[in-house]
Amino acid sequence: MEISFAGRRALVTGAGKGIGRATVLALVRCGAKVTAVTRTQADLDSLTLECPSITPVCVDLEDWEATAVALRDVGPVDLLVNNAACAMLQPFLEVTPEQFDKSFSVNVKAVFHVSQVVARGMKARGTGGSIVNISSQASQCALRDHAVYCATKGALDMLTKVMALELGPHQIRVNSVNPTVVMTEMGRLGWSDPDKAKTMTSRIPLGRFAEVEDVVNSILFLLSDKSNMTNGVTLAVDGGFLAC
Ligand code: NAP
Repeated sequence: MEISFAGRRALVTGAGKGIGRATVLALVRCGAKVTAVTRTQADLDSLTLECPSITPVCVDLEDWEATAVALRDVGPVDLLVNNAACAMLQPFLEVTPEQFDKSFSVNVKAVFHVSQVVARGMKARGTGGSIVNISSQASQCALRDHAVYCATKGALDMLTKVMALELGPHQIRVNSVNPTVVMTEMGRLGWSDPDKAKTMTSRIPLGRFAEVEDVVNSILFLLSDKSNMTNGVTLAVDGGFLAC
């Protein structure tokens, strides 16, 4: 299946590393003009070297005011990928208010904010658009030490559905991609230990973690016209984990 984003403008958050960075590169390969948003300047510098056509935006998405300023001049966006997130693992009884607030601030509140900014523009232009929120299998399955992370991703799945409901009449589709473990910096945090990894892969019918490319391909599909009638879904990229 050929996917082209020629003439389309995309914005990807959390573009410095992992899935976000690979999504930027894939979108550029498919012809999109991409704004890459993240908070570490060194990541944007190396991404710009690798891919000079991107527009880099350095901002901490936790900061609502700074984000509003940073996004003011990015221009029209047709395709949005809300990918930035943080994962801090603690036993339920040890979670602190700070960890709770930071996680919801990045994983949910920032998605709200960036989506509002972008969707207002899409609605005003009347040209529609596609938004993909990067959720997780953790939104629908309890994982030890993941209480806050699971809660943020559960909230994100519901946000995806309400956005799909309210933005659909403006021809703005909103879907989520829900991966299993991917061995990015975030994935390594919780799953580097081979014994622990085995407790997860043994529950995945395909018997392995997802590759970054597996996730990126699903993101591209949901952004593209190939999924024109798909709106409000949570697309598992989990080798069957959530089916069991
Ligand atoms: P990653 O390697 O940790 O990359 C996350 C990116 O988001 C980094 O560039 C990070 O920048 C950026 N970011 C984090 N907080 C930010 C903030 N406040 N403002 C701006 N940028 C911020 O993570 P990943 O594995 O690629 O994860 C991408 C998405 O997939 C996330 O939504 C994650 O929840 C989801 N996911 C991941 C896995 C997995 O196993 N990896 C599984 C399921 C779902 P800094 O490095 O500068 O903080």
